[in-house]
Amino acid sequence: MIQLDNLTKSYASKRVLGPIDLSIESAKTTVLIGPSGCGKSTLLRLILGLITQDSGEVRIDGCVLSEKTAVSLRRKAGYVIQDGGLFPHLTAYQNITLMARHLSFPEADIKDRVNFLTRLTNFSSDLLYHFPVQLSGGQKQRVGLMRALMLDPDILLLDEPLGALDPLIRYDLQTDLKDVFERLGKTVILVTHDMGEASFFGDTIILLDCGRVIQKGTTDDFVRHPMNDFVIQFLRAQRTISDERLP
Ligand code: ADP
Ligand code: MG
Repeated sequence: MIQLDNLTKSYASKRVLGPIDLSIESAKTTVLIGPSGCGKSTLLRLILGLITQDSGEVRIDGCVLSEKTAVSLRRKAGYVIQDGGLFPHLTAYQNITLMARHLSFPEADIKDRVNFLTRLTNFSSDLLYHFPVQLSGGQKQRVGLMRALMLDPDILLLDEPLGALDPLIRYDLQTDLKDVFERLGKTVILVTHDMGEASFFGDTIILLDCGRVIQKGTTDDFVRHPMNDFVIQFLRAQRTISDERLP
């Protein structure tokens, strides 16, 4: 579905990403994980065509991402960012439907789709007429998710969508998100820096460090066959209380 070939990106002649070669499977969830500053968001932005690589190629469904194809390819992808990125002066409903209204979709279709999405994301429809400031962090992320899904994209890219939430809200939203991914069967790329979250969501996990892919595999591959000391350190740094100790 998504193919990256020899992709590199620098800022002020400092290489922040690549060279990266990757293929991302369709209808599966791929998790990008790695320390802060390792290039996770840069990689998502390159796939979305929001920034341009210095060399290499992004192909989506076999079509090379370029200035000419960027607009049509971007329509295939929904994007959710950490703080939701909602427009503060628009209600939840207006945020969700902005693009569909811009494209002059029929009002009745828009309403039907919002209805479907509120049920899908467990969002109370009373809150659709609230502004972002009147919503909790978890509710804002549900609105961000509905906005990303509004045009029914094939690909869903989520950049640390749960990073700013407290643990209980995060737990609920993780469960709901996973359910959404499974029901819709979209190609999902989710960024996190939490290995527990990566393992919960990821059919495939890709660990990055300093702009390079260090290891790609399942949770089991990481635990049984860590590629090098960095992987071991990264796994060790994720402290958790094991389930067996909980009542
Ligand atoms: P991550 O999402 O993994 O935390 P980023 O992809 O945001 O990392 O950033 C990777 C590196 O690129 C960081 O060192 C960051 O400072 C740098 N970087 C990202 N965007 C820019 C930019 N627009 N200008 C200059 N440096 C940038
Ligand atoms: Mg980031």
